[in-house]
Amino acid sequence: MRDENKKHTLAEDVRLLRKAVGLVWQTDKRFVICSVWNACISALYPYLEIYLAACIVDELAVGRNMEKMVFYVTALAGAKFFFGALQDKIGGMKRTWEAPLYYMQEMLLGEKILTMDYENIEKSQIQEQRKRIREYQETFGGDLKTVFGHFEEILCAMVKIPAALLMIGEMFLVLPPEGLGRFSRFLASPASSVCIIGYALFTSWQMLRISEKNVAVQFSESEQEIGAGRVLDYYTQTYIPDYKTGKDIRLFCQNRLIEQEMDKVRAIHNGINARIMKKVGKYNGARAALEGLLTGIIYLLLGIKAMLGVMSVAGVVQCAQSVQELSYAVNGLMSGIGFARKRLQSMEPLFAFLEIESVKYRGCLPVEKRRDNRYEVEFRDVTFRYPDTSVNVLEHLSCKFVISNKMAVVGRNGSGKTTFIKLLCRLYDPVEGEILLNGIDIRKYDYKEYLGLFSVVFQDFKLFGFELAQNIAAGAAFDEKRVMDCVERVGLAGCVAGMKKGIYTPVTKDFSGEGAEVSGGEAQKIALARALYKNAPFVILDEPTAALDPLSEAEVYANFDCLVGNKTAVYISHRLSSCRFCDEILVFENGKIVQRGNHETLVANKEELYYRLWQAQAKYYQ
Ligand code: ADP
Repeated sequence: MRDENKKHTLAEDVRLLRKAVGLVWQTDKRFVICSVWNACISALYPYLEIYLAACIVDELAVGRNMEKMVFYVTALAGAKFFFGALQDKIGGMKRTWEAPLYYMQEMLLGEKILTMDYENIEKSQIQEQRKRIREYQETFGGDLKTVFGHFEEILCAMVKIPAALLMIGEMFLVLPPEGLGRFSRFLASPASSVCIIGYALFTSWQMLRISEKNVAVQFSESEQEIGAGRVLDYYTQTYIPDYKTGKDIRLFCQNRLIEQEMDKVRAIHNGINARIMKKVGKYNGARAALEGLLTGIIYLLLGIKAMLGVMSVAGVVQCAQSVQELSYAVNGLMSGIGFARKRLQSMEPLFAFLEIESVKYRGCLPVEKRRDNRYEVEFRDVTFRYPDTSVNVLEHLSCKFVISNKMAVVGRNGSGKTTFIKLLCRLYDPVEGEILLNGIDIRKYDYKEYLGLFSVVFQDFKLFGFELAQNIAAGAAFDEKRVMDCVERVGLAGCVAGMKKGIYTPVTKDFSGEGAEVSGGEAQKIALARALYKNAPFVILDEPTAALDPLSEAEVYANFDCLVGNKTAVYISHRLSSCRFCDEILVFENGKIVQRGNHETLVANKEELYYRLWQAQAKYYQ
């Protein structure tokens, strides 16, 4: 990962700009085409107006031809109307097509999170990066839409500068007449025109410095807002909107605490804004003074040239305004580049995030499809610890088993049972050692195909806020009969019959007031139904009855064979009574398998852990 605080080289920024523009192009080509048109029209239209105004002045001062005068006035009015309407139209089209840009950035991020290696998601470094992306977007405008806006600004300036140079040609064409004094001769000469351009560019540079200070103030003050913004986001977007927290807020009078915290954040924001406004006001005043001075000096010098007979009145109008346009264009170009570079730097976390490599997808071997579901799994000297931790959760674990029937993984809380399953399902890769499926390292298999082998219900499963059937099918489209079959097998039929729209009822109220409010036990049954619907060869259930009442629990055990059918089931529990029916039981302790066998053989060994756990729990079930 790159260091986002490191200053970029120009080449790096150009690469990032190309990438940003490329992403916008991919999202909507029409938006890019519209923006290029807009930049060209914004760059060239002022010169048309300046040219026609100069022609009118010329007719007034010299030609005095009424027909030509009417023509120029009509052309000026027509051009104003036509280009005004055109810019309005293009602006409208741009606004329509730029909306998806924001979603596109969100979609890119979402897609990346959905497909990145699971273990990356919980790394603190990556979580920090995700926060930075949003904060930089909100605080510094580090997003595609804003950066593209600067691209348009740069493009406009690049068209404007050569056009301005063409328009000011008259300033250099006529040599001073004979008989003038030294100073007048200089004022009338092309050399003084070069000085005027030099002064205009010097003013641009001064204005640029002011802009840079302005930007620096805004960026550095805004940086201090980030910490306060996190607190505000936490309260306003996470804590308060979740109606479930309403209970705690009321019972523990947390509103006082929240109000105090919000007041602190508000005070920080107000202080920062006041400081920004004070400094920005000062800079804007200086800018306006420079602009006024530039206009005055240009008109004065060009006016003198006209009086000395080296320029026409129309030429003064055309050149004075064009020199100012040149100055603004140079300023626009430089500040556009400066802003774009700063914004691109703030997009660094986003680009770096999108570039995170997913090693899980490297494998390409197809997974053998066995009709008898007899898959041989081997953990070979596997050691594992979670990201950002230093304690091994599994330590030199070696075991080999053929999963063909029902297998249980038991042990005390925290002994590593769920972790063992997470490794089997390749949510994480071992830190040392390897896991083999039918003699081949599971990293070599095609990741999606390999994941397709497992239907897992973890304890901390999550349901979508969508329809019940979509939750069970884990997709927008589903087979209604299959959904109903799974609903019945897990004992949810009664509950579904009571729902307003049956299997079409949303399972939360997030999107619709008609959504159901399912209990923990019902949610667990829905998760079970989802595992059955997937119809994978391995069904893995992690404490599948933890949230169920005793009757539902007994029902699940009684129907267990019917539930999983002829599939291989791996069953994780610390409740030993619920694993008795399994053909093989692995007993975990401190990240190792300390015993294995069926219930009868394990319970017969009174010296070992299984017997002690069994005894400790048995008294509650007698
Ligand atoms: P079990 O399923 O046997 O109750 P787990 O496999 O869930 O145990 O957890 C084993 C150990 O790993 C515990 O000490 C737990 O705190 C730790 N652990 C589990 N998940 C994570 C995680 N995502 N990050 C860090 N440590 C974890």
